[in-house]
This record gives sequence, structure tokens and C-alpha cells, in this order.
Amino acid sequence: MKNLKKEKLLRLINTSGVAMRKPEDEVDSNSLTAEGEYYQQVEQFAQRIRKTSDVDEMIKILETLLNETKGLHSNNEIQNTHELRRAETKIESLKYELEELRELVHTDQMTGTYNRRGLDNIFTREAARADRYENALCVVLIDLDDFKFINDTYGHLLGDSALIHFATIAKKTIRPSDVIARYGGEEFLIILPDTRPEEAVWVMQRLQKNLSKNLLLDSENIPIKITFSGGITLRKFQETQNTVIKRADKALYRAKQYGKNRIEITA
Ligand code: GH3
Ligand code: MG
Ligand code: MG
Repeated sequence: MKNLKKEKLLRLINTSGVAMRKPEDEVDSNSLTAEGEYYQQVEQFAQRIRKTSDVDEMIKILETLLNETKGLHSNNEIQNTHELRRAETKIESLKYELEELRELVHTDQMTGTYNRRGLDNIFTREAARADRYENALCVVLIDLDDFKFINDTYGHLLGDSALIHFATIAKKTIRPSDVIARYGGEEFLIILPDTRPEEAVWVMQRLQKNLSKNLLLDSENIPIKITFSGGITLRKFQETQNTVIKRADKALYRAKQYGKNRIEITA
């Protein structure tokens, strides 16, 4: 699918009216017209798009191309403004499609939370913000308790429903600025920007409460008990994702050892 989009993108660039009409007087490269310069830039963008398979990178290239195209409007040398607008509309609609694709590649399809790739992006963004404003950033690693037992007792399909149920309740519990990602099978990671560890504990307690109030029922309307253990840690200044998660994992390990269905903090 990604390749299809890339093909479409390159086709668009090759056919985008103004972009591809190399002006006749462009023989002498020292006296390029604005249109000629634009043409050269478009070719460079096309080359960069050919080289990358990263949808984020493609979107960035398109944004730059869009700005260049818009910039041409104020240039009196450009004759065919109708073609220019047509190219602009095409680039904008393609950018929209690529943004939808980005959403797709960053999302875990079963639970609708971010996947590992989405998490990497968000962590980088939130870590930079936390460092810039010297804000507290907490990370919670969550592992659902006795999930093998849930699968073995109710079947894998209901196990899937339990994962979806947990993710739904968690998303409703956290703030819009908090982020939840599926870290692995029955493990989730929650990023809490601008949050101290003691506040992160309250959020997790609220999640425990909401899970016990909103029960998932089996085919005979009998409630399935879903609990989780969580490890909280406060990210240090300039700390990488790996070391933060390792520390959260230590706290999670303790929570499991101390009897599950509980939260632990590692400083
Ligand atoms: P603990 O409380 O120590 O975490 O025990 P546990 O049973 O949750 O841990 P364990 O690692 O033994 O088992 C995790 C289970 O989660 C096994 C695996 O099949 C199941 N699981 C992982 N991903 C999925 C999934 O997408 N759907 C379903 N239904 N089960 C999954
Ligand atoms: Mg596990
Ligand atoms: Mg588990």
C-alpha cells in the first residue's frame, strides 16, 4: 500500500502542470527563471521521495513542496496560475491521504492504541517537550494479570475482547494529552506528560477502579475479571526511551512479585 502511495506521489509530481513544464529559456543555468528553479526543486523532491520508504519523511517533503508551490503565487513571472492551483490542490489531497496512512502505520489495529512505531514517535516528541520546558514526564508499563488463564478459560477470541476492553477503558481514563500504546501482546505503555509519579499513581488507581466498574461479560453474562500490574517511573532529563522503559519494567516486575493487581514506582 505504501508503494502504491509512493507511485501516486511520483506520478503527481511528474504531471503537476507548472512543475513539469520546463521553460524554453532555461538553457543557460545561470539565468534560471522562477519557474525553472521550481522545476529543478521538484525534481530534487521526487528523487528524495524515491529514496525514502518512511511515510513521515514523505509528508515532510510534500509540505515543503506545497510551500514552494504556494510561494510561486507571489512571483509575477509565473504565467499559468490556473495550473499552479491545480498542482496545489493535488498535493494537498495527497498529503491528506499520506496523513491517513501515517495514522494507520502508527496504530495497533486490534486495540486502536498506538503501536511501537507510533510510540517511538510520541516518546521522541514528548521527551523533547519535557526537556525544553523542564516538565515531569512519567511512563507506566502495564501487564495484564494472568492473561494466559483468561485465554485458556474463555478462549482466544474473548482474550482479544479483553485486550480491546482494557484499551477502551484506559483511553477513557487518561487525559487527552496522555498517550497509550500497545507495547507487546498483553502489555501497554502509558506516557503521562507533565505528571509527577504520585499523580501517575492516582491515574492508575482510577484505571483500576474504572475496570472494576465496567466489567466485560462472557457469553453467559458472567463478568470476566481483568486486572493489571503497573510499573511507574519518572523520566530523567535527556533520558532515552530504552532506559526509561527498563526502569519501569523493574517496577512492574516488583508489582508482579508482590502479588499482582498493584502499582509500583521505581525512582
Ligand atoms: P502474568 O500475570 O505473570 O503476566 O501472567 P500472564 O498469564 O499474563 O503472562 P504470560 O506471559 O504467561 O501470558 C501472556 C499471555 O497473553 C500469553 C499470550 O498468548 C497472551 N496474548 C498475547 N497477545 C495476545 C493477543 O493478541 N490476544 C490474545 N487473546 N492473547 C494474547
Ligand atoms: Mg506479559
Ligand atoms: Mg501478563
